[in-house]
Order: sequence, then structure tokens, then C-alpha cells
Amino acid sequence: MNKQSMFHQLALIEEKVGVLYEEIGHLKNAMLTLMEENKNLFIENQHLRERLQQRETELEKKEKRQSSVIKTKKDKQKRTVVGEGYDNLARLYQEGFHICNVHYGSLRTDGDCLFCLAFLNKQG
Ligand SMILES: [Zn+2]
Repeated sequence: MNKQSMFHQLALIEEKVGVLYEEIGHLKNAMLTLMEENKNLFIENQHLRERLQQRETELEKKEKRQSSVIKTKKDKQKRTVVGEGYDNLARLYQEGFHICNVHYGSLRTDGDCLFCLAFLNKQG
């Protein structure tokens, strides 16, 4: 190999190294962009998780409140049923029947019944 050809080869290698160097620079930039994106996605993901957690906690609180509302409704319905029962018995008594446990269901023939009235007063 003569000196001129050696010099030419070195020049070629220098050129190749230059191209590689440039490629490395591009890759480095791409890598930096990806790292930046990754960091932003990580932060966004964390925020979304926090929001989700908040929502779930709020939903749990709401469900607890609703179930207590339903319970109150049921209690009200129970009271209404008791009230309706009382109204029915009072009507039955007004229509002339005994509602006391002494003569229950039989027709009242002697006016007011003290047992019936006591029962109604106790229920009301
Ligand atoms: Zn009676």
C-alpha cells in the first residue's frame, strides 16, 4: 500500500466516522424527545390515577349516602304500613265492627266498645 492510497483510505474512514457521528447526534436527539414524552406521560398517568382514586372515593361516599337514604325510605314505608293498618282498623270500627281482641270481627251491637277504643288509642 503506497502513502497516497493510505491517505485516501484515511480520508474515507474520516468521512464515514463523520456520518456516524452525525447519526449518533440524531439518535441522541430522538432519545431525548422520547425521554421527554415518557416523563410527560408518566406525570399525566399519575394525575389520572389520582383523579380516578378521587372519583372512586366520591362514588363510595355517594353509595353509602344512598343506601342510608334507601334505609330511611324503607323505615318510612314501614311506618306508613303501620299507619294504614291503623286507618283500616279505625274504618272497620266506624263501620260497626269490633277490632278488639275480645270480640274481633263481630258486629258491635251495644254502641262503643271500651276494648276497641282502648286498642285504637294505644295504636294511634
Ligand atoms: Zn270491641
